[in-house]
Amino acid sequence: MNHRLDGADAPYWQGLERGLLLLPRCRTCAHWCWPAGHRCSACGSTGMVWEERPLRAKVYSWTRTWHRFGYTESLDLPYVTVVAELEDCAVRLMGRMDDPAPANPRIGEALIGRVDETVVGQDRIPTIVWSRAA
Ligand SMILES: [Zn+2]
Repeated sequence: MNHRLDGADAPYWQGLERGLLLLPRCRTCAHWCWPAGHRCSACGSTGMVWEERPLRAKVYSWTRTWHRFGYTESLDLPYVTVVAELEDCAVRLMGRMDDPAPANPRIGEALIGRVDETVVGQDRIPTIVWSRAA
């Protein structure tokens, strides 16, 4: 079974497939619960609401991939992967930079995201693709 269909984070993937970033927030204490789980990591509540968030973030960390591995033939080498920290809730999300060979990102640099997809083998995985904010 595809974990994107039935895992605790399934609404995240379903949102991305519609071009939206949805994140779980505790209905009791308003904590952003990411990675997604069935209980709030702050208060233990099971009441979650999925809220749409803007794709605005800053670079928390990044890496450049120079060598091909496991079914990533759809990506031009080298490519840059970032851990982006959302501006308004400090949730950190993985994604890749839109330019296949951008200048090195700077920690804290502002990013704007959009939803695209990454072809991995026979699978098309919804992916957040980040660009430098103008
Ligand atoms: Zn809570």
